[in-house]
Amino acid sequence: MQAPSSTRTDALVDFLDRHPRLFVLTGAGCSTDSGIPDYRDTAGEWKRRPPIRYQEFVGNEHARKRYWARSLAGFRRMRTARPNDAHHALASLEHRGRIVQLVTQNVDGLHHAAGSQNVIDLHGRIDTVRCLGCGQRSSRQDLQVELERRNPDFASLDAVEAPDGDADLEGVAFDTFDVPACDPCGGLLKPDVVFFGENVPVERVQRAMAPIAVADAMLVVGSSLMIYSGYRFVTAAADAGKPIAAINLGRTRADDILTLKIEDRCANALRLFA
Ligand SMILES: [Zn+2]
Repeated sequence: MQAPSSTRTDALVDFLDRHPRLFVLTGAGCSTDSGIPDYRDTAGEWKRRPPIRYQEFVGNEHARKRYWARSLAGFRRMRTARPNDAHHALASLEHRGRIVQLVTQNVDGLHHAAGSQNVIDLHGRIDTVRCLGCGQRSSRQDLQVELERRNPDFASLDAVEAPDGDADLEGVAFDTFDVPACDPCGGLLKPDVVFFGENVPVERVQRAMAPIAVADAMLVVGSSLMIYSGYRFVTAAADAGKPIAAINLGRTRADDILTLKIEDRCANALRLFA
C-alpha cells in the first residue's frame, strides 16, 4: 500500500538531507507537466507506435519524409514548451551545490531553459540538426521555416504529439513532402538526437558516467529506465554502492534495487525544492 503523500515528501526530503551530492538522471516523465507526452504507460509498455529507428530514417526515403512531415507539428509543440516545477527544482538544487551532474534523456532543452548549467544531453537536442555527410550542425528552427516554405500543405496540419518531436499524422500522403539536403555537401539532414537503434557516443557516456563516483546518491526523475541507455547509469550507481531514489509514475526497470520510490508526478514531488 502506498504511503500518504506527506510521508512520501518527508521520505524524499530525508533522502536529500542524507545525501547532499546527487547524480541525477531525468527522463520523459520530467517533461510531461510541460505538455510533452511520454512514450510509455505506467506498466512500462509503449503507449503508441514506437518512434522511428535510425536504420529506417537513413535507409528509407518514404519513412524519412514521413518523419519530417510529422515533426513539423511536433517541433512546434516542443518549441513552445516551458520548464515546470521539476526543472525549476533541479536548477535550484544545482545552484545550492547539491547536484554533481545532471544527465537527461530528454531532447527538449528544458533543463537549460530552467537555468541548469551542468547538464549532459545524453540523447542530443531536438533544436539542432546535423548533416550525416559533413557533420555540420545547424538550427532546427531555420530548417522548420524552410520545411514550412517548401510544404505549405503540411504546415498547418496538426497532430498528436510524441516525445521526440515526431508526431502522428496518419492518412496523409508523405511522398510529396520536400526535405532539403545539406547546403554545403548535399548530405542527409537528421535531428541531432540519438534515435532508437543508434548508440549514444561512447565519449558522451563516459563523461556522463564519471561523476557517479563522487556522488553520495543517485536520483532518477521521470524515467521508467526501460532502455539500456538510461538503465546503465542505475546499474553503475548500484555497483558503486550508491543509494538510488526514483520519482516515477508507474514501475521502473530498477524497482528491485531502489532505496526509495516515489510514485508521483515529478513536478508534484519536487515542487517543494523549486
Ligand atoms: Zn553536409
